[in-house]
Amino acid sequence: MRGSFRIARIMGIDISVDLSWFIILFLMVYSLGFFEFPRELYPRTFFPRADVLSVTLGIVTSLLLFASVLAHELSHSWMAIQRGIPVMNITLFIFGGVAQIADEPDRPASEFLIAIMGPLMSVALAAVFGAAWLWLQIIENFNFALPLTPLILLTGLLAQANGALALFNLAPGFPLDGGRVFRAILWAILRDVRRATRIATRAGQLIALILIGFGGWLFLTEFEINGIWYILIAFFLWNAAGQGYRQTVVRETLRDVRVAQLMTREVQVVAPDISMASFVTEYLIPRREQTFAVSDGRALLGTITLNHAQRVPRDRWAARCVRDEMTPRARLSVLEPQQTAAAALGLLSRAGADELPVVEDGQLVGFLGRRELTRFLNLKIELKTR
Ligand SMILES: [Zn+2]
Repeated sequence: MRGSFRIARIMGIDISVDLSWFIILFLMVYSLGFFEFPRELYPRTFFPRADVLSVTLGIVTSLLLFASVLAHELSHSWMAIQRGIPVMNITLFIFGGVAQIADEPDRPASEFLIAIMGPLMSVALAAVFGAAWLWLQIIENFNFALPLTPLILLTGLLAQANGALALFNLAPGFPLDGGRVFRAILWAILRDVRRATRIATRAGQLIALILIGFGGWLFLTEFEINGIWYILIAFFLWNAAGQGYRQTVVRETLRDVRVAQLMTREVQVVAPDISMASFVTEYLIPRREQTFAVSDGRALLGTITLNHAQRVPRDRWAARCVRDEMTPRARLSVLEPQQTAAAALGLLSRAGADELPVVEDGQLVGFLGRRELTRFLNLKIELKTR
């Protein structure tokens, strides 16, 4: 995600936070540390003031809340990895967290298990914090001298928040976790992922509408500023539902065709020993291809594109040769002609590439990129609507 940076790596997954995350962190620390906690900590004071204790407690509670969201996303990711689907990264942002799973599950059982794990983790966390809250309260009743109030506040709030997180995510609207569970069940019954997604998406949009109505009612009749929050979440959900549906349609359409049917067979070959200067003037400028195969006439050594040239300062073009700058064969993701276009799209996004070479028996036979996939999808749409 743009505007985000990495903070950790867990189970081989990059964990990053989006800039919008800091807004919500700040708001949360502010409202907890300066209003909520002072009121609870000093109930007998007329004007409860924030102090070091209340602000520290606000910071610790907010960070534990984000840790809870992260634990929720990590459980989805763990199950995805168990089911053989790689997870690229987890990003925390203003509305919570999102785990970028490389591919949509190809079986309802996988979808069900991956989707249910997050809410299960949140329920478990709610239970643990709830039990701690109860236990602390019992101890406090036995010994009033113990200063347990801050810990009671912290555990109580985290139990509530994790419970709310589980409940909201279990709402049966795609692409919320509950909506994915719902889609998995429909998918297993109907044996048609597109129809299942369409129904679950409608449910997601219905939930978004209910949220907008509820938020609007809170804001307009109760003058609750929180109403705006519900409306924002609803818009986010509405968008995500439509996007999720389109993704499914794209993937299902691409599942019916093979790489060999869509790839371009024109392969422009560049010798490894020519300079970057001649690569630019003789190949990049006069030809249309984006990716060139580097070959000594026998085997594919790597690929080179405009991006590689851009990385080299212009005054070094004469001194560097193609072999020094290309992506070598060993680091190259390659496609096979028999793979489905859906699998190719997954590999393209995992490799972060615009185009990948198609290799058969060690020989380069063509290229397939986003350009070809988009062209094919547009053609499908055109043919269907005419
Ligand atoms: Zn989830």
